[in-house]
Amino acid sequence: MVNPHRVFIIDKIPVAKKGPVVYWMSREQRVHDNWALLFAANKANELLVPLYIVFTLAPNFCNANTRHYDFLIKGLQQVEKEVNALGASFHLLLGEPPSTLNSFVHEVEAALLVSDFDPLQVKQAWKAELSSSIKINHIEVDAHNIVPCRFVSQKVEFAAYTLRPKLKKLLPEFLTDFPQLPTLKVKLQKQSTNVIEALHWLSPNTEVKPINWLKPGFVEGSIMLEDFIANKLNGYSSKRNDPLANGQSNLSPYLHFGHLSAQRVAVNIVKADAPVIDKEAFLDELVVRRELSDNFCFYNNDYDNPNGFHNWAKISLAEHANDEREFTYLLTEFENANTHDDLWNAAQLEMVHTGKMHGYMRMYWAKKILEWTEDVSEAMEFAIYLNDKYSLDGRDPNGYAGIAWSIGGVHDRAWGKRPVFGKIRFMNYNGCKRKFDVEGYISRANDWVADKMISHKINEILQ
Ligand SMILES: Cc1cc2nc3c(=O)[nH]c(=O)nc-3n(C[C@H](O)[C@H](O)[C@H](O)COP(=O)(O)OP(=O)(O)OC[C@H]3O[C@@H](n4cnc5c(N)ncnc54)[C@H](O)[C@@H]3O)c2cc1C
Repeated sequence: MVNPHRVFIIDKIPVAKKGPVVYWMSREQRVHDNWALLFAANKANELLVPLYIVFTLAPNFCNANTRHYDFLIKGLQQVEKEVNALGASFHLLLGEPPSTLNSFVHEVEAALLVSDFDPLQVKQAWKAELSSSIKINHIEVDAHNIVPCRFVSQKVEFAAYTLRPKLKKLLPEFLTDFPQLPTLKVKLQKQSTNVIEALHWLSPNTEVKPINWLKPGFVEGSIMLEDFIANKLNGYSSKRNDPLANGQSNLSPYLHFGHLSAQRVAVNIVKADAPVIDKEAFLDELVVRRELSDNFCFYNNDYDNPNGFHNWAKISLAEHANDEREFTYLLTEFENANTHDDLWNAAQLEMVHTGKMHGYMRMYWAKKILEWTEDVSEAMEFAIYLNDKYSLDGRDPNGYAGIAWSIGGVHDRAWGKRPVFGKIRFMNYNGCKRKFDVEGYISRANDWVADKMISHKINEILQ
């Protein structure tokens, strides 16, 4: 049973005809622990009709490149196998999602479209365009948030402290284990999608290479989760902010691509035998901070630019707009890690060569982009461009919220005034030195640049 508060009607037609159910898998690229798929499968059984599962591959999606497509496509290949085993059929649709979906739905004479929830504007725009052409019922299921984004709050939340109590109140209702997927009553013939053809059609930018230290998919993500619980959860609260301690879970790429459900992660963490302080620290990041990001992007159309900042921050940054900058850099100088600051350069190299920058360094990295650019809009633009291009978990609400927090004080409070930053929280090199072994972190850059964590075989993506 899927909690009705996860379900949102996007399009309703007066008289529904009988026909198959189509699940448009987008953000939740998994068969297990997926409320949207559970909803679609239950509906197919209720109506005694077959279930189709489609994934739309759009050209030039948010500047994605081979690093992202490698992870995405290999994950989808696993999904396809599992979908075939269920007796549903899996289809990769190539082209602009609203038109390809519309054609597919017509072709199979579907009666119901089920989609998953995504707060980002590009996905919202696809749904709006689809609504103007599609003539069947369209239902969205929030399978990403533990407490559905539309339900927990109907407005942009000010900060974690305003969302946290709302989530806490509702968690007993929503933080449950998952039911089994039902056996499908009407089965379809196995389909084989042509992934290689899809990739040739996409011809992704190959400048940013795939990484080899994280393997995509539900199985690999589950192994990563179990390893985190067994070896890193104990001590997470003290180690997570030390870039040399390897104290984070590295689950963000799996959560971003939907290879793992955050709810599954939370359920397993709650059951784990680990100190409460560590479990609470981890759950605060995974549940409160992550779901706050979805809230920010869903209710604030300006999540990727300074118009989305709080008024105090806009005013304060404007007051300091003409402050003299000691250093300013072009985008290419940032991109090539060519600043005067070896710590910042190391963080940039970590992201470029491993596909993931440590969480603590992400804050420092973005704040220095504010300090070393001519204006705050440019700082946002540069930070988003670089994060989305090189981070495997980029193009995610967490990225937009994290950058807006660092540069624009979103979800933060006003601090003492400083040049350029105004009242935005400041971070500096010496502060980092007090927190962790800065020299040790910088010396790691040599390893990253050696590209040991990168797969040079672009063709691997085609295997
Ligand atoms: C400038 C900046 C950019 C960021 N860009 C991204 C991004 O593109 N994608 C991304 O997923 N996260 C981003 N974050 C948030 C955070 O840094 C990462 O989620 C975290 O470092 C991912 O590593 P992990 O999975 O090992 O984290 P862990 O510490 O193991 O945390 C577990 C999970 O909790 C969630 N989480 C942890 N910290 C945060 C946070 N501050 N905000 C929201 N959720 C959090 C994530 O889902 C994460 O996977 C960014 C933060 C900043 C300051």
